[in-house]
Amino acid sequence: MSEKFIFITGGVLSSLGKGLTSASIAKLLEGKGLKVAILKLDPYLNVDPGTMNPYEHGEVYVTDDGAETDLDLGHYYRYTNSPLGRTSNATSGQIYDTVIKRERKGDYLGKTVQVIPHVTDEIKSRIRKLTQSKIKPDVIMVEIGGTVGDIESQPFLEAIRQFRLEQPQNCLNIHLTYVPYLPSCGEVKTKPTQHSIQTMRGIGIIPDMIVCRCEQALDKDVINKISLFCSVKSEWVFELPDVDNVYQVPLVLKEQNLDDSISEFLSLNKKASNISAWEKMLAKQNNAKKTVTIGVVGKYLDHKDAYKSVLEALLHGAIENDSKLKLEFLEADKIKSIKDLKKCDGYLIPGGFGNRGYSGKVLATKYARENNIPCFGICLGMQVIVVEFARNILGFENAHTTEVDLSTDHPVISLLAEQNHTEDMGGTMRLGAYECKLKTDSKAHKAYSKKKISERHRHRYEFNSTYTKEFEDNGLVISGKDSKSDLCEIVEVKDHPWMVGVQFHPEFQSKPTEPHPLFTAFINASLKHAQKGKK
Ligand code: GLN
Repeated sequence: MSEKFIFITGGVLSSLGKGLTSASIAKLLEGKGLKVAILKLDPYLNVDPGTMNPYEHGEVYVTDDGAETDLDLGHYYRYTNSPLGRTSNATSGQIYDTVIKRERKGDYLGKTVQVIPHVTDEIKSRIRKLTQSKIKPDVIMVEIGGTVGDIESQPFLEAIRQFRLEQPQNCLNIHLTYVPYLPSCGEVKTKPTQHSIQTMRGIGIIPDMIVCRCEQALDKDVINKISLFCSVKSEWVFELPDVDNVYQVPLVLKEQNLDDSISEFLSLNKKASNISAWEKMLAKQNNAKKTVTIGVVGKYLDHKDAYKSVLEALLHGAIENDSKLKLEFLEADKIKSIKDLKKCDGYLIPGGFGNRGYSGKVLATKYARENNIPCFGICLGMQVIVVEFARNILGFENAHTTEVDLSTDHPVISLLAEQNHTEDMGGTMRLGAYECKLKTDSKAHKAYSKKKISERHRHRYEFNSTYTKEFEDNGLVISGKDSKSDLCEIVEVKDHPWMVGVQFHPEFQSKPTEPHPLFTAFINASLKHAQKGKK
């Protein structure tokens, strides 16, 4: 059987949840026993989102192979088993970069290099590359970022138009659109959808199915109207009303038989989709009786997408502990004294870069350590735990990371090159998965229940191993080390209920159905702390 291709486009507005919809569709197809490989095409010109401010773009999702990718890949990871890596995300910047490099090498034999066919050929070859994925996919799903009508996304749409021309029987176009409710006239409006489909047709793509994002369920006559004006039969016009919990999206689509319609359209297997583990997780979440309050001490808190996977992983830990999650967002910048800290059952210090908010994070960590409140430091958060410990337990008053203070007397966190007194190696980041060995009977070891783990990284600075003895003699346990280089990967405060810092990003490997063990352990400790307070 040759592979099938599903192209997902979006119209009318951005932020409709195209990533979540794609992930949910892929989940339903996996429920039928199909293997799905997913590709996100991003129209922007950055080669990857690694250089973008989190305010601009949200989280950078890192894969095992060290690619810095779009946050939609995090949705794919949480909802599906699709393998993710460098080939799962391509930007216009990457595509043009490849084409221009080839042009410089003389690969185009004196031809004029143009968007059609050179750029579109490169896009198509990236799509085809997914057919070689090691899972041997039955379906390749391609989500096209941006909104139809954007200048930037035109080469991508042109490429999928050509793709269908080449193999019409193997391609399905699903268009996600918005059907707003207009309170002033008490009606839902289909015109934006009609225009969006017209724009698609102008490009030469006729959507086969339409998914309508809407505030509330749509009346049958609205569906019929969209069907008539957009030339899509009404059974293939689906609705996706707002839901309280995004993990319900696969169920909402399944109820309308979107998965079976896809099977019918692409002649895939007719098996009913089985997503029982997902449904069980949702039931567990709905039945949760306890509540846990976690303070997230960060600096991109106006833009929650900047911490997307961290917030999701906290939720997974809460579900696993039969509790509801209440988040308190504590702007690190504004924490000038302990009084500025809201009381929480546990504190999480997420990753970050640079000086802003650093002292607020150190204060929050000190408060958690001195008051035996669970505290979880991730990447920069781990470095903050080390700096605070050095200042207040080791008595190194101005201990710091050289990321913030190059002239500190005690660079407890610094670049490897600084530690080795070697030349800077170019300041590149340590990216992707590394194996780490755990210390027996440590909190980390208890949480993971194994001795070797693999976690993903995205950082430059490291624990300065010249201070190892001082830290260890005074109660900071180094409970995880890189298997090859011995770099410090995990620290724990010995006489504390649960204070753990990790140099890696465990949040990238947490799913609602497979919560990450460290998040489960952190939430568990936070619940115990809350319980103590009640006694
Ligand atoms: N800025 C720190 C470093 O580069 C931490 C990075 C992070 O939190 N992702 O090491």
